[in-house]
Parts: sequence; C-alpha cells; structure tokens
Amino acid sequence: AQDAPEAVLEGLDEEQRTAAATLTGPLCILAGAGTGKTRAITRRIAYGVRSGVYDPHRVLAVTFTARAAAEMRSRLASLGAPGVQARTFHAAALRQLQYFWPVAVGGTMPQILDHKVRLLAEAAKRLRITTDRASLRDFASEVEWAKVSTLTPEGYVEAATGREAPAGVDHQSFARLYQAYEDLKSDQHLMDFEDVLLFTAGMLENDERVAAQIRQQYRHFVVDEYQDVSPLQQRLLDNWLGGREELCVVGDAAQTIYSFTGASPDYLMQFRRSYPQAEVVKLIRDYRSTPQVVSLANTLLADRKPGLGGNEAPWPTPLQLISQREAGPTPVLTEHPDDDAEAAWVAEQVSSLQEQGAALSQIAVLYRTNGQSQAFEQALASAGISYQLRGSERFFSRREIREAMAALRTSSLVQQPEAGGEPEETVPEAVRGVLSSIGWSAKAPTSTGAVRERWESLAAVVALADQLAAEREEFTLREFLAELDERSAAQHAPTVEGVTLASLHSAKGLEWDAVFLAGLCEGLMPITFAQTQREIDEERRLLYVGITRARKHLYLSHASARHAGGRGRRKASRFLIPLRRSLGLEPAAVKIAPGGGKPSPNAATRKGPVTCAGCGEVLTVATQIKRRRCETCPPRYDEQLFEHLRAWRLDYAKRLQLKAFMV
Ligand code: ATP
Ligand code: MG
Repeated sequence: AQDAPEAVLEGLDEEQRTAAATLTGPLCILAGAGTGKTRAITRRIAYGVRSGVYDPHRVLAVTFTARAAAEMRSRLASLGAPGVQARTFHAAALRQLQYFWPVAVGGTMPQILDHKVRLLAEAAKRLRITTDRASLRDFASEVEWAKVSTLTPEGYVEAATGREAPAGVDHQSFARLYQAYEDLKSDQHLMDFEDVLLFTAGMLENDERVAAQIRQQYRHFVVDEYQDVSPLQQRLLDNWLGGREELCVVGDAAQTIYSFTGASPDYLMQFRRSYPQAEVVKLIRDYRSTPQVVSLANTLLADRKPGLGGNEAPWPTPLQLISQREAGPTPVLTEHPDDDAEAAWVAEQVSSLQEQGAALSQIAVLYRTNGQSQAFEQALASAGISYQLRGSERFFSRREIREAMAALRTSSLVQQPEAGGEPEETVPEAVRGVLSSIGWSAKAPTSTGAVRERWESLAAVVALADQLAAEREEFTLREFLAELDERSAAQHAPTVEGVTLASLHSAKGLEWDAVFLAGLCEGLMPITFAQTQREIDEERRLLYVGITRARKHLYLSHASARHAGGRGRRKASRFLIPLRRSLGLEPAAVKIAPGGGKPSPNAATRKGPVTCAGCGEVLTVATQIKRRRCETCPPRYDEQLFEHLRAWRLDYAKRLQLKAFMV
C-alpha cells in the first residue's frame, strides 16, 4: 500500500486532495498564505508521476526562488518522483537558451551582465545626462520595469504615460537612454537578466524547430506564486505552452509584492477568463501558523480602507484564513529607543529561544531594506549567534565557493588515494586544510558584512564535509567534489546553520518557527517612497507576507530613533495600529522603563467590560482585570515574557537603555 500512487495524497485535506488529484489542466489554486498551495502542487506532481500519467522528464515546475526550487526537487524525490525539473523562470530559460543558442543563433552566447549600472553610466555619459549613484539605480529599475513589461524603447514613451519618469529625465530622454544602453550591451556582446527570458521567448516565437523541440520536451507546466508573474514571464509561459492547456497555477493575490517591478496579479485573477474550462480550487485552512498569528494577518488585510480612487488598483477580497494549529504565544510588540537597542533586544530574544531548544535555522529576522541588516549582524555576532545573511541562493556562484572548489580540485589531484593507510587524513581534515590555505580559519571572525558572509559560506562547506563523512562509510575527497559538483548543477546549497537575516521580499513562500519583523516604523514600513494608495497597498501586502512566515512566535518591533541620542523621532508604522487593537491592546498599555518594572500609571483605560483574554468571561475581580485572565486560564505569553524581562531587566537596561513598551 506504501507504493500505491494514492499514498502521496495522504496528509492532504479534502480541497488539497481535489487539487492534487486533478491531473489535467487548466487548474488554478487560489488560496491564502500557509494553506498548503505549494504542498498541494508538489503532491499533484508526485501523484501524476507515480500513477504513470506524467513522465517526470516532461514536467516543468516553476518556482519563484532557487531555494524554493531546490526544496521542491528534494520533496519530490522523497515522494518517489525524482527527475522532475523544478526551476525559476530564469534558470529554466537559461538552460534552454544555452542548449539552443548554437542552432538557433550560432556563435557563442553573450555573457550575462550582473549589474546594469556600469553600462547605464556609460550610456548616460554619451547622452550628456548627469547622474549619481541613486539616479543610476533608478534608471536600472526603470529599464527592468520596461523590459519585464515587454516594452521596447519606442514603446516605452507611450506606455509610461501616467507613470512618473525617473528623477532628472523625462520619458523621451529616458527612452533614448534605454536605447543607448541596449546598443552598448549588444556591442559588448553582453545580455542582462531580462534578456535571458526575452531571447528564449524570441527563439520560441521565431524558430519553429526550437519551439517544436521544447514543446515536445515539456508537457505539464506548474507555476507557483503566480500572482507575481510579469508580462515577460507570461509571454514565455505562453510560448512554452504553444496553445496547450496543461497548466496548473497557484497564487494568492494578497501576496502580490513585486508589482513595482512590473509583475501583475491580473493573470491570476483572470485565469478563468483566459481558460474558461479551468478548474478552480480554493483553500482556506491555514496549516502553517497559530490562530494568534493568523488573526493578526487577517486583521491587517481587513483594515485596508478604500482610497480616494484614481490611481487605485483593485484590492482582492481578502480570503479569511482559518488556523488549524493549536493556540500559541501572543505575538509581541515592542518599541525601542534606537536601532542598536532594537537589534540587541532581538539578539537577546533569539538567545532565549535557543535556550528553550529552538534551532537557529528555525528563526528569521526580516526587514524592509537590506541596509537594515547591519545592526542585526552586529548584535548577533557579538552575542555569538551565527546567522546567514542571504538565503542559500546562488551559493555556488559566490566567489569564495568557486575558489574553494578550485583549491579542493587541485588538492584531490595531488592526493594519493591510499585508502586505509595508517594517521591518513580524513576528508573533513583535508577540507579544513585546503580551506585554510585560501584564508579560512575555524574561528568565526568578529567583523560583519562581506568578511562574515564569506566565512559563513565556507563554514557551510566544512559542515557538509563533516555531515557526509559521518553518513558514509567510505568517503574520499573526490567523492566530496563530485557531490559539490552535483549540488552546484542542481543549485542545491548546503544549509547554513544559523538565524536567517533576509528582506521581506526574499522571504516569500518560506516559513520559520519564530519570525522577527523589525523596523516597523513610518518611512521603512511603509517605505518613504510609497506614496500612492497603490504603493501603500503593496507595502501592506508585504507586511502580510512577513507575518504569515511565522509558524509560532512572532515579534514586531520598531525603534523611535535611528541612533542613540539622535534627534528626530520616528513614528510607529501605521499598520501597527489595527494590530495593537486586535491584540486587545492600547498603545503603551504596559511600559517597561529602564530600571523600573512597574506598569505605567498611564496604562490605557479600556472601554466596556473587561473580559478574560483566554475564555472571554466577563471579569469583576481587580487583580484578574489587571491580568485580563480569569482564575483558571493560564497567564498570557507576554506576561510570562514580562516576568522573564524582569529577571534580566536591571543589568540589561543599564547596558542598553532599553525602553521597551510591552503591549
Ligand atoms: P505561501 O502562500 O506562504 O506560499 P502555501 O499556501 O504554499 O504558503 P505551504 O508552504 O504549502 O503553504 O504549507 C504551509 C505549511 O503547512 C507547510 O509547513 C506545510 O507542510 C503545512 N501543511 C499544508 N497542508 C497541510 C495538511 N493538509 N496537513 C498538515 N500540514 C499541512
Ligand atoms: Mg507556497
């Protein structure tokens, strides 16, 4: 019975099972965060393969990040369906382009350009447009937007009407800059990130042989995170399909967070219109998060007020999520005097979670802008907590990893394969030796930033050697290299044991037991440049994505100034207002001042009868009213935390001048 194809449908609820058992497309799964969309499509592919309906080599599953792709591949392998291609749009297109370039175009394929900025600077100089770093970055995003919206320089001017031109140029001169950039790029035999998709789509559109071969190869298409598909990606997908309907898409319009780059939830919302035969499955049960986390997520979406019209995008009717998990801790909201104090507090909480047995790989600190990572790196490093700054994406293209592999290769050629010989070096020893020759040491550096990142990625290679040596009886350096090569081809990065520090945008689709959402102040969340209703809506969705990454512990924090003693107070994010209310809290309900533990006499006054936050019973006894707990319900999580804070309060507050408002 274990081998029956239906075995992979176990552990799915009714709707998920319907989706997974619908093996012919078109199929659309519309559902909120954590409802098991990714799980359902993974099982669907496994079911299709195991029941013999799909040839695994004919399935192409498209995910949003390389990390998600790697996760899907390993899940499929463990479900008994290896060999399925799960890739990002970019990786899938790049492979096809590399393979068909010699036949379709001829000659060598252009090299891929990492950053647009250098060429744009050159193009601007030619056109005598003055630039600085900020404007070049703006130009680069505008070129990206134009390209993913499939606009040529000529098409740009008309299409961009009503859209603000990048600072310092009008639409006409930007179009000229865009053209100059394109010219320089082809003169130098380079292509950018978007070109990979454009060329692949172009090849499919213009070369019948190539199109026939690719379509022959792939029959079944699955796209995760479809709400953030761009017109360019959609065009590629249409070309892959070539009019066929073997397509399954999955998405949540409330998680659209890339529309600033040209992505659009319209394709998801109008799927039924494009495919009138489409089966649509909705999932509403949330399996990821506790009711406390789910309730905050629902509140945040429901709190959105209709704007003044005009530039307003349609707001999807939020799907109210229903948590399937047992109750967990109340989410914690705190305010700190400055960024460093906030980061130190986060590090302190991470330590205490670790003491309670949490794995560091199950903890993430998420923020709006990458620039915010510095304070957290510093605080975690000085608390001796390891962390990984980026996700495991592009691990094998990092310079230090390429260097390490080259050094290991050289060493494996020199090494005599005298297996079994007497104090002979073990693979982990050999790896440590080789890596120390390129400057790595077993002790973590105290500095942060690039040095630390480099150290962490090499440490992951050492940890992998340790792990494999423990798992395998005979293990040689050559085998280790073969394993690295294989993982490199599959973009299967070794996991770095440590807290994840990531931007909200890159956290999409992922989950952790404990999530810290830091820097929730006006200017960062929503970000300063989000001005229109449309842009504010996207910020709200971004925070929604952040909240729904947490399985159990959720911490929302902000600092009232950037630097200690700095002038200019920062206001708490507007999005925290409904969240506070939903937690049954007024601002500053309990204030913990440095050195003092008493609740503030200004504790907020409540309206109406006070009920027990556990069972809802109306309370009459003063001490119970204060605790908002009847005699029988257990203390609230934040009260427990409050006790914990009291224990280290004095020393800690002295050190950090902590002024946390526990609310
Ligand atoms: P997101 O919108 O964030 O991408 P999602 O809808 O893709 O979320 P998944 O990541 O597939 O959700 O699932 C969320 C979590 O719930 C995962 O840990 C998954 O294993 C678990 N899960 C999903 N469905 C079930 C189920 N039927 N029973 C138990 N656990 C489930
Ligand atoms: Mg998902």
